[in-house]
Amino acid sequence: MAIVPDTLALIGNTPLVRLKGPSEAAGADIFGKCEFANPGASVKDRAALFIVEDAEARGAIAPGGTIVEGTAGNTGIGLALVANAKGYKTIIVMPETQSREKMDTLRALGAELVLVPAAPYSNPGHFVHTSRRIAEETANAVWANQFDNIANRRAHVVGTAAEIWEQMEGRIDGFTCAVGTGGTLAGVGLGLKERDERVRIALSDPHGAALYEYYAHGELKSEGSSVAEGIGQGRITANLEGAPIDAQYRISDAEGYQWVRRLLDEEGLCLGLSSGINVAGAIRLARDIGPGARVATILCDTGFRYLSTLHNPEWRDAKGLVAATD
Ligand code: PMP
Repeated sequence: MAIVPDTLALIGNTPLVRLKGPSEAAGADIFGKCEFANPGASVKDRAALFIVEDAEARGAIAPGGTIVEGTAGNTGIGLALVANAKGYKTIIVMPETQSREKMDTLRALGAELVLVPAAPYSNPGHFVHTSRRIAEETANAVWANQFDNIANRRAHVVGTAAEIWEQMEGRIDGFTCAVGTGGTLAGVGLGLKERDERVRIALSDPHGAALYEYYAHGELKSEGSSVAEGIGQGRITANLEGAPIDAQYRISDAEGYQWVRRLLDEEGLCLGLSSGINVAGAIRLARDIGPGARVATILCDTGFRYLSTLHNPEWRDAKGLVAATD
């Protein structure tokens, strides 16, 4: 591997790993895109870089300026590292329900952290609206607006989709992932369909999100809840508009967590719950496509980000999450 010139060049070009247990369970080949290998340890570094470079290209940010964003945490970490590398400041607004590790990482990166109570999107105190207001009130600041700024999904059309296509040498039958902003699902979906329109693109939706019902029956409607961080959307964001969705699966936390644990116990891979939900969705998609299907998904972030939550037995007990091997 060549020497890269700087930190920002470490974003993207992540490895693709064949997941043994999931492949056996599906009678197929399931591949995981190792987004935890980005410098901020999540898929959101890609969106952060594209959003900041888009703001620069539009002249929306000047040297020494401030990037403001509302985030479940990973986008904030990506923005803070890109900002540090480029000489900007960051103000990050986050719901107080997110993991302690993400908050500590943001503080370590020097971001100004604003914690708000978890609230529905319709509430003006919601983290997204709070971040927009702070951006408006701060001098020389730009609002990253990851949900409706399509520089986010462009990162996945140009980067993630192109990389998966090359790594799989064009032999890919399906792709699935869950949605936070929709940048990953829509971007990878569009990028793969551009190359081969037969690639099946599927949504893997957690409980409590409204997109499964939308793609299945045309109505935004949610049911139940999920403890997964960073996913679960209740509206069609600009990033999701025109996303080529062929199928949809609703995945419970219990089903996602089984795969988090099996990948940890049997393959030594420490992931977060959104990755487990993606892997469970990839197995369902592969079974629907048929024997020998080649399906890719996203391993969104590192499980080391959830040592106090998902990987902590007391927290899991409190949330009622159990693995078959417990
Ligand atoms: N998993 C995790 C852990 C995340 O933080 C995010 C981003 N919010 C996602 C999945 C979903 O990615 P996207 O925003 O591209 O839909």
